[in-house]
Order: sequence, then C-alpha cells, then structure tokens
Amino acid sequence: MEAHRVLVVGAGGLGSPVLRALAKSGAAHITVIDDDLVDESNLHRQTLYGREDVGRSKIERAAANLRELAPELSVEPVDGRFVPSTALELLKGHSLVVEGADNLATKFLVADAAHLGAVPAVQAGAIRWGGWAFCALPDSACLRCLFEDIPRDRIETCAEAGVVGPVVGVLGGLEAAFAIRLLRGERPAGELWHYDALKGSLRKTFVRRRSDCPLCTGEIKDLRMERYTAACAA
Ligand SMILES: [Zn+2]
Repeated sequence: MEAHRVLVVGAGGLGSPVLRALAKSGAAHITVIDDDLVDESNLHRQTLYGREDVGRSKIERAAANLRELAPELSVEPVDGRFVPSTALELLKGHSLVVEGADNLATKFLVADAAHLGAVPAVQAGAIRWGGWAFCALPDSACLRCLFEDIPRDRIETCAEAGVVGPVVGVLGGLEAAFAIRLLRGERPAGELWHYDALKGSLRKTFVRRRSDCPLCTGEIKDLRMERYTAACAA
C-alpha cells in the first residue's frame, strides 16, 4: 500500500475514532491539529484519552496514545486551530483530510481548502441524537453543494447544542470508514450518510453538484478570513 499521509482536523469526539482507526489501517503518517486540553467531561466521547490525560494538551496526548497504539506510525501534532491563513500550507502533502471540528465555520473552511488544494475531504457533524458523514472528492459535490453556506443567524456548536456520546462515536466511525476506503483507492464521491439514533436509521444518499455552488463553479478562489468569521467566535 502507498505511504499515505492524512491530516485530521480536531482530536475530539469525531477525531478519536478516526485517529484510532487510521493508526492501524493504512495511514503511514498522521498530522493532527487541535488547540484544546483534555477535559474530564469529554472523556465519555473522546475515546482516545483516559483520566491520566485530563488537563493536558489534546494533540500531545493524542500523539502519545497513537504512538503507543501503532509504534510504526509517524505522527505530527500541531497545536493550534485550522485557520484560513495556514490551511492550504498545512494540507499540502496529505492524501486526504478528515475533519472532526465542532463548529460549522471550520467545516466550511476545511471543505474550501480541500477543494482548492485538490484533496479528498471526509467530514461529519453531530447534533444531539443524530448527524451526517460526507465524502467530497475534488471533482464531486462539496459541502457547499450540501449546505450552501454558514447560517449567519444561528451557529450551534456541539458544545452549545449538546450531543449524545455514542452518536459522535458512530459518526466518527463512519468517517474512519470513508477514510480507509479512500486509502484503499475507492471513490465514495459525494456519498452522504445520515444517522438517527432515535429512529435507529442509517441512510445513504448522494449529493449532486449544485450548478450555483460558489466553490464548485470556481467563484471561491481563496480562503478569505471574512468567509469564516464565525470560526473565531465558535
Ligand atoms: Zn460544491
């Protein structure tokens, strides 16, 4: 298998299952970016960490735990946020990006950076009892074909809306499956999975390119900060 390098944005609830799975299933190198500390209240859904990690830097502990899990794996922890000014540079040299952010602005930034950098993007979102996981290839529908734009009036983050621990685990698992399929050479282009824990349903649909999508039509050519202002507030 080719020596794949994967960028994982966020090492929390979604990132934990993704990082664990990729460490043992096909990635030669993982770059992981996050700026948070491990919090005791998150341990139930951020399964990469234990009690001994509480209060410590998430990416530092993520890197240490991944190295223990897979000593042959190369891990580069980046302590910071995924921001417009460094997004494309950070993405460079990676086979794909998996996003596990807890706010919509970062999700759109990852989608835009991946498209402009011609890198496949695996993304997911979880709110309360359900969520979605989506795979965009540079020539398929993107996140903006799916959601148009960041809602300006109401941005709910996971922290505000609340999310049920196992739901995040399922969606992170779906992201991991997407990522492994991509590393195996499959093309789950525009594939969207909806998960509803209360209905007990997992449903697959395909997202088509919107003819007026600003990203797919080339209207968005760069990563201007003002497009992602909510990233700073979230
Ligand atoms: Zn699009």
